[in-house]
Amino acid sequence: MRILIIEDEAGIARFIRQGLEEEAYAVDTADNGLLGLERALANHYDLLLIDWMLPGKTGLEVCREFRQANAQTPVIFLTAKDTVQDTIAGLRAGANDYIKKPFHFEELLERIRVQLRPQTGEHERFRLGNIVLDVSAHQVWKEGKEIALTQKEFALLEYLLRNKGKVCRRSRIIESVWDIHFDYDTGIIDVYINAIRKKLGLNKEAGYIHTIRGVGYMARE
Ligand code: CA
Repeated sequence: MRILIIEDEAGIARFIRQGLEEEAYAVDTADNGLLGLERALANHYDLLLIDWMLPGKTGLEVCREFRQANAQTPVIFLTAKDTVQDTIAGLRAGANDYIKKPFHFEELLERIRVQLRPQTGEHERFRLGNIVLDVSAHQVWKEGKEIALTQKEFALLEYLLRNKGKVCRRSRIIESVWDIHFDYDTGIIDVYINAIRKKLGLNKEAGYIHTIRGVGYMARE
């Protein structure tokens, strides 16, 4: 899952970024409205966090213009404003939710999870043979036994399971699991795949994670 933070206060952006990275999200940042909108339109994100007061373009303008091009991706406003009028303006511009500064990271995280959760409200779980990955609980089990994965290993396995039965191209994996500053040596994916296979005890030939030579990987039973 990849998130874009558009926030001009460096300290806040860093604080959110660190927290989200610890939760295995890939995070990009932009410190003004123009760059933020450009990045939001050029890359695929699962969610946008937009500050209200921004140089270049206001958060409201960024949100409105982003919505004209993309109706799906959830947007959460970070705002010091809390008058009813401002809240309504934000929601009318296409935001899904807003959080008032200062906030506790745990609350922001919960709001993000609500937006990314499937509509059923149940725990989002993926299965691959005897492997179960629970997105909300952030756990992986094989035959009922918990397997400890690093944040990136978890994010990579989650991406493959979300796309089970489909070929995952290397470039798409990088886009979803690593951030924009990644230097694009997709060889890193192989290193992580090998680590995941090892921890899950999957052998290369008979395993559930298949190498599609020259293209990428596919999770398939
Ligand atoms: Ca600001």
